[in-house]
Amino acid sequence: MLYGPFTQCLPMSGLPLHGGLLDEQLSIIEDAGIVIRNGRIVEIGSFESLKEVFPDEQRISISDKKVVALPAFVDCHTHLCWGGNRVHDYALRVAGKSYLEIAETGGGIMDSVRATRAASEEELVAVILNQVQDHLKRGIATIEVKSGYGLSVDDELKMLRAIQTANEQTAAILIPTFLGAHLKPSDFEGSNRDYLEMLIREVVPVIKKEKLAARADIFVEQGAFSIEEAEWYAKEMQDLGFEMTMHVDQFSKGGAELAVSLGCVSADHLEQTQDEAAVRFGNSDTVAVALPGASLGLGMQFTPARTLLDNNASLAIATDWNPGSAPMGDLVTQAALLGASQKLTIVETLAAITYRAGYALRQHVGTIEKGKEARVTIFETDDYRNIFYRQGQLRPHCTIIGSDCNIYD
Ligand SMILES: [Zn+2]
Repeated sequence: MLYGPFTQCLPMSGLPLHGGLLDEQLSIIEDAGIVIRNGRIVEIGSFESLKEVFPDEQRISISDKKVVALPAFVDCHTHLCWGGNRVHDYALRVAGKSYLEIAETGGGIMDSVRATRAASEEELVAVILNQVQDHLKRGIATIEVKSGYGLSVDDELKMLRAIQTANEQTAAILIPTFLGAHLKPSDFEGSNRDYLEMLIREVVPVIKKEKLAARADIFVEQGAFSIEEAEWYAKEMQDLGFEMTMHVDQFSKGGAELAVSLGCVSADHLEQTQDEAAVRFGNSDTVAVALPGASLGLGMQFTPARTLLDNNASLAIATDWNPGSAPMGDLVTQAALLGASQKLTIVETLAAITYRAGYALRQHVGTIEKGKEARVTIFETDDYRNIFYRQGQLRPHCTIIGSDCNIYD
């Protein structure tokens, strides 16, 4: 099938993983076509020349308007599997209570834990598929999903099994991450270290046996886990074959250096990260993941994305979609707002939600390249810059995933 013509096609291939990017570095194919066979990209180029080279290919025009094609987006950090909601927390927060104060009065993460424990596996699958469908409509076709609202052996496994089942039922790629180390639950008797040891002893063997996740995460924060506890846990999990990622530097500092020194695949949040820590990212393969949805949800400062890029970091942007601090879940809106605040070029913002976010997940996604599975999102516009200029209000017309073209508007 020959798709096109596209007024612009942005393959996003051949760009560097690290550091700042200028819009002039972006290669744009004008009046482009894409040849897809059996769900894979066979060729990308000028529509007119592809018509000659592939005369027998079925031609598919996406829209009678001008359209722009770019890689389907990647959301490399979400908690979109949850029970209940946290609207009560929201009301307290906007009335002036802090995140930690709300947590100390039984709100916060433990509130979602109670509702998630009460939900059946089937109910969680339905929640995931519902939110994944919202993401597909926003042009996002690769989505990381964390556990971390079960916090018991059975409930963490229930979440991971729900993610695995949902992954079989959606066109999106779901990448599961084990976040049993989100918080020591209030009903666990023992120390933080006892809790982490319990996860390794009782949950991890089942995760490995059922291939439920190859990545693990820990929340390094006052009220969650200390730097020392996280260091011990991460090394144990890495020895067991897990790729590690960490929630760090959201409210207090120090976790980012730990994540980089341990070779974590990503270090996420970084709102408090300062220059000394930002420098470390430049010489590492640990992707710095900014979560502007959490900054917006909590009314906090943004991650210093400009400083990180200027220090040669690989920067990704993700939604952190969760029921508490980041309920919006709109990647393009959040990336556009972060870009405006931090003075990111459009190509830096685009890289952060495509191939650099793919790199944070160590997945080869987020580009349009020959030989790869087709994952292409298409907007009705004649200029890709409108996607960020409109701050999320311009929605994709459709997304091609493999051999299917899903039209959303
Ligand atoms: Zn998170």
